[in-house]
Amino acid sequence: MTETAALRTAPLRARAEIDLAALRANVRTLRGRAPGAALMAVVKSDAYGHGAPQCARAAVQAGATWLGTATPEEALALRAAGLTDVRVMCWLWTPGGPWQEAVEADLDVSVSGMWALREVTAAARRAGLPARVHLKADTGLGRGGCQPGGDWAELVREALRAEAGGLIRITGLWSHFACADEPGHPSVAAQLALFREMTAHAEGRGVRPEVRHIANSPATLTLPESHFDLVRTGIAVYGISPSPELGVPADFGLRPVMTLSASLSLVKQVPGGHGVSYGHHYVTPGETTLGLVPLGYADGIPRHASGAGPVLVGGKWRTVAGRIAMDQFVVDLGGDEPGAGEQAVLFGPGDHGEPTAEDWAQAAGTIAYEIVTRIGTRVPRVHVNESV
Ligand SMILES: *Cc1c(COP(=O)(O)O)cnc(C)c1O
Repeated sequence: MTETAALRTAPLRARAEIDLAALRANVRTLRGRAPGAALMAVVKSDAYGHGAPQCARAAVQAGATWLGTATPEEALALRAAGLTDVRVMCWLWTPGGPWQEAVEADLDVSVSGMWALREVTAAARRAGLPARVHLKADTGLGRGGCQPGGDWAELVREALRAEAGGLIRITGLWSHFACADEPGHPSVAAQLALFREMTAHAEGRGVRPEVRHIANSPATLTLPESHFDLVRTGIAVYGISPSPELGVPADFGLRPVMTLSASLSLVKQVPGGHGVSYGHHYVTPGETTLGLVPLGYADGIPRHASGAGPVLVGGKWRTVAGRIAMDQFVVDLGGDEPGAGEQAVLFGPGDHGEPTAEDWAQAAGTIAYEIVTRIGTRVPRVHVNESV
């Protein structure tokens, strides 16, 4: 696209470079980890901040046959962007949602309870087309999904009735893990057992799902018996480990897709004892140079990483000096004098010595998922290696 091409050559304040070759390689690696299952690339929240249409296209090129989003609006936007030859599922519905648009756009939708089943069947009737429905079981996450027992029996019975009436097709039975990133956690085996029980109940009543699915990235990477017919991988597609306890991305053959960098907007000498940024929480220990990085919490740089976040400048790791402000923060360059415009790399794959999103997560007391998803819209995404 011309906009992308222009951005590639223009000097930018800051940029999130998105390496689509790395994303495609990650998808192929994940398919290799779950050879018996189809792969859904989860591209919710603008592909975890990486740009949904571009990442979705790259994932499909690499063999993903499903795309997943949270909201129906996100799923409809994929169709509008031309992603028409791929199954698209969305699961986060509220009453009055765009069910009819979803049916007409051939989306797969999730139903966790009776209100949703009523709305989707009404929409299918209006559209004159059957809806593709995945019945969601709460096997222990304690969040979305239908409770086991009487609630599940009722939902299955009424869904089968709607299917017999031609209003829906029950395409999936599914659930979601609470602690898949903690292998051996007793809830994992308990959820798997209950998932088998709840799917067996539905199948015993006559449900013939195309796909049964429960595995997210950590389960895809560590728990083959959870793969069933489809794995729903999000964070691993973007080359980030689901948790540092499980390993670093390279342990799984994954490569981080996003590199976040900025051009220094000022470098200046200051004397010792100089307070830096709001609140003066950093005071220069001696005469030094300061570099101004034009990114702040409005761009998604976590304010909790004040005084802690790492940045690569001129081949050296520097640390955020003082508070991260809305639009900018400062690093102490220890007397080095790179010119304004020099690159400051906040995070990337790590193989050029730069920090990773995981390093920022540690600095901010959060998870790497939050670091990449929160990079704001003011930071242009520059997609590279778009063509295979
Ligand atoms: C976000 C999400 C996923 C993907 O999770 P990752 O840990 O990023 O792989 C899978 N399934 C559901 C229901 C989700 O909401």
